Amino acid sequence: MARTTEIADGVYLIATDNYRLNSGLILGSEEAMVIDTGAGPRQGAEILRAVRRITELPLSVVNTHTHFDRFMGNAVFESDGADDFWAHPRAAHAIEKYGDRQRTYVEVLEPEMTHQQGANTHLVIPNRLLPGDGSRASFTRVELGDRAVTLFYLGLAHTDNDVLVGVDDVLFTGDILEQGSDPAFDDSYPDQWVSTLEQLAALDRYRVFVPGHGMPVESPFIERMGQTMKDAIHSIRASKLDQNASTTAAMYKLPYSPGATRILLDRLTWLDQKEEAGVSLSEVHFGDNETGLTGPITLGEGQ
Ligand SMILES: [Zn+2]
Repeated sequence: MARTTEIADGVYLIATDNYRLNSGLILGSEEAMVIDTGAGPRQGAEILRAVRRITELPLSVVNTHTHFDRFMGNAVFESDGADDFWAHPRAAHAIEKYGDRQRTYVEVLEPEMTHQQGANTHLVIPNRLLPGDGSRASFTRVELGDRAVTLFYLGLAHTDNDVLVGVDDVLFTGDILEQGSDPAFDDSYPDQWVSTLEQLAALDRYRVFVPGHGMPVESPFIERMGQTMKDAIHSIRASKLDQNASTTAAMYKLPYSPGATRILLDRLTWLDQKEEAGVSLSEVHFGDNETGLTGPITLGEGQ
């Protein structure tokens, strides 16, 4: 059962059990916006039911990034009448090109989605995109009637397509922020993620930050998360440079679980190799010049 909390006037956190997912709902006078739709028709329907207990307004949707728990419930909302699905341009591209491969991740909790059987199991590709080609910080405003929501992209972080959703003094951050568990580094850009966290902590206009999983946090949490990540990256790089040190032993001094540490280490190694090969991480492009920098979850290559 979804747990719904009004965190500001007409702004709701909708928490569902599967994947400990946080979704959001923002009410305007003419329209309401839903943030992240779940991992398939079951979770999508659970989120939609929670939304419909609160409002009968027409809905638009934002997918904060291209991980299955953020967009695989889109078809449920399309069936309910939603036309506008907002995302970062790279998210739309990755969902269109590789979205089907992520179906394997949800087999236990969303078997219909995995096997593409039954209603609302098709992928709905985001059709309203942040401006530009997605390689630079960008923002747009979406009018909901007597209330505007700001969608923006700060830079590489948890993925290459993390969209933040701001309204009044509340900011929905997707998985850029993670409360109660380690950050997910699989598709991440750890060095740039630290910078993005520093920018985020400095945004005075927001007071409450809603992470992709866990409880809402305030800016000191973001500073600590950034510092912890910075220290962990530093420790990993230092232990790799020291030929005498055992990397495994060094891992136990790190703030993350061995599993998360291993993923961070592998991702840093892979990104460093790309950089040495002359691939620019600051301007990841796709299309004709696709660099293949998208990570294993987004590509569906993690299993
Ligand atoms: Zn994610």
